[in-house]
Amino acid sequence: MSKEENLECSFCGRKKAETDLLIAGMDAHICDKCIEQAHGIVEEEITEAKTSSLSKDLTLKKPKEIKNFLDQYIIGQDETKRSMAVAVYNHYKRLLQTKDDDEVEIEKSNIVLVGETGTGKTLVAKTIARMLNVPFSIVDATVLTQAGYVGEDVESILSRLLQTADYDVEKAQRGIVFIDEIDKIARKGDNPSITRDVSGEGVQQALLKLLEGTVVNVAPKGGRKHPEQKFVEVDTKEILFIAGGAFSGIERIISKRLNMQAVGFGASLDEDKVDEENMLQYIIPSDLKSFGLIPEIIGRLPVLSYMNPLDAKTLRAILTEPKNSIIKQYTKLFNMDDVNFIIEEEALNYIVSKAVEYKLGARGLRSLCEAIFTDAMFDLPSSDDKEFTVTKEYAESKLTKSALKKLRAAS
Ligand code: ADP
Repeated sequence: MSKEENLECSFCGRKKAETDLLIAGMDAHICDKCIEQAHGIVEEEITEAKTSSLSKDLTLKKPKEIKNFLDQYIIGQDETKRSMAVAVYNHYKRLLQTKDDDEVEIEKSNIVLVGETGTGKTLVAKTIARMLNVPFSIVDATVLTQAGYVGEDVESILSRLLQTADYDVEKAQRGIVFIDEIDKIARKGDNPSITRDVSGEGVQQALLKLLEGTVVNVAPKGGRKHPEQKFVEVDTKEILFIAGGAFSGIERIISKRLNMQAVGFGASLDEDKVDEENMLQYIIPSDLKSFGLIPEIIGRLPVLSYMNPLDAKTLRAILTEPKNSIIKQYTKLFNMDDVNFIIEEEALNYIVSKAVEYKLGARGLRSLCEAIFTDAMFDLPSSDDKEFTVTKEYAESKLTKSALKKLRAAS
């Protein structure tokens, strides 16, 4: 026998002639069959590891723990944090349910958040995704159009998620998508036969499929990893969708409904108890319908919560309390230049008062700080000053009327 023919697989012992392929290593050989088998084992192990890491996440994070995590980053909004914690917990329970269990199938707990812009809707969704360490993407519902119209198809939502998941389909399928400005695709008016608003309703119909779970062919935009692959199949049934919108004017719908209820049932609704300043807290799904969302969409967003408007006290807390609050971030930036950064209480209150006066909201806090600290951030790194104290007077001197006007225009 030639030396060649003597070769055998070091794993199963097959002779070279009995294999289709025998690959040589340093001191050993492996045949095609053993490679296949080993590949199977590797795949199995990886899937198992993925599922067990998911179960670990779940056992680690009960609703209370989820809420505690959110508390570190989001001020107030307790109602929303609680219902989000439960919804997310149930969502991941649903992912862990075994198909052969019984006939009770847990449905998805997609969420809709109603609240003015800048009240933290995106922040809540983003923070949840960070905690779970799952891919997260934000889409603006206003750019979505019905297939065939100018704009982005509803499917583009998934290509963005796929991108953030680094083209790992499995990972993307467990991700979270935040659909911003969902109110902008509402049908205008409650009566479909009078006001036909085709694009709005068409987009809602297209979105519906995605929310309930469907397999979509997604073009991996700019997918460097799979240039040869035209489409990737993404199943949306395990993706958690969180929709957000300001639904401006919905307060009137809520208030009308509350008045009618009061009249209708004869029992006078205790006027004192209705908090006119914050009508959103009384929101129910039918208000979304009156606003122009189709009932099917509302049905697919079963968890409805609201955001409270941000008052001065909340804005003040947002400046310094969250784990990565704006002031903590500036402190770190100055510290990196060995500058001790001190901001006086009065200066903080002044910033808040300007945010309130110019209706800049929480987003405006950062712009205000930027306007106040930019000169110092420019000068201090090349000076010998090792301390920077911001007094109210200093803040005032930096926030000229024109600077404030500019901020308001930009907000
Ligand atoms: P929305 O999605 O409702 O328009 P965002 O989530 O984008 O609002 O909020 C804008 C910014 O305002 C956030 O990045 C955050 O810095 C700040 N912010 C808003 N609300 C809160 C809050 N409740 N707690 C902490 N920061 C907040």
